[in-house]
Amino acid sequence: MGDHAPMKVSISPSDRVFVLTGAGVSAESGLPTFRAEDGLWAGYRIEDVCTPDAWRRNPAGVWAFYSARRASGWKALPNPGHFALAELEARLGDRFFLCTQNVDDLHERAGSVRLHHMHGELSKSRCERECGRLPVEDRNIYTSLDEVGRCPCGGRLRPHIVFFGEMPLEMDRIQEEINRATVMLVVGTSGSVYPAASFVHWARQNRARTVYVGPEPPLNASAFSQIVQGKAGEVMPGLFEVAD
Ligand code: NAD
Repeated sequence: MGDHAPMKVSISPSDRVFVLTGAGVSAESGLPTFRAEDGLWAGYRIEDVCTPDAWRRNPAGVWAFYSARRASGWKALPNPGHFALAELEARLGDRFFLCTQNVDDLHERAGSVRLHHMHGELSKSRCERECGRLPVEDRNIYTSLDEVGRCPCGGRLRPHIVFFGEMPLEMDRIQEEINRATVMLVVGTSGSVYPAASFVHWARQNRARTVYVGPEPPLNASAFSQIVQGKAGEVMPGLFEVAD
């Protein structure tokens, strides 16, 4: 391979691909990542806005933060990184599964279907109590807590977001999909948020090929068999060589 040949990720007809994305895949869409230089997310301290304790102490502050995330999320557009994953899914069908840590909806707006939001979704709310009712669609941008609705059980609606310290959604399904995968592709995540940072290790235990895409090596870089250095929107289009 010559020096200038672009790096490729080859997918054979027997491969099953599990993709994990993080905040980095949405960075080129203008949404700030979480572990940027200042350690803040969009200017906030995580413990003030995305923990169960923050919700108990200051639900108005939590809603102000997530309303602001909604406002910028609705304005953002999917970038070529999101589209490259949707195209890969169109080629692979059921041999593809996308698990995202992102709460924005840019993957689905790019066309991804076999998609799981392990940390919740900005476009939904759910009861603050464990009353068993499912999350509801809610794209409102709240300017005061009085505007936030209540569940029929009386509990206040909270963002359908997995706060730090809470359990990610549908871990059993994620584990099953990782067990079936022969290729794990991880895009734009720092490898600092668990359990997502462990997925690459689970995949390796199953002898899957592990590929990372991002502008800098993640904290768990040594667990990857291939690192494609670059911005997702620049390197992902044309990255995959899918054999029929
Ligand atoms: P992180 O902020 O910890 O790490 C971001 C990673 O993206 C870094 O490793 C960085 O090198 C990489 N990156 C930056 N620009 C990139 C680009 N153009 N292409 C590819 N990679 C790029 O993010 P995380 O590991 O996903 O953890 C953040 C947590 O915060 C998650 O749990 C997530 O739920 C939440 N979060 C979500 C969003 C969102 O929904 N868009 C945004 C911020 C944070």
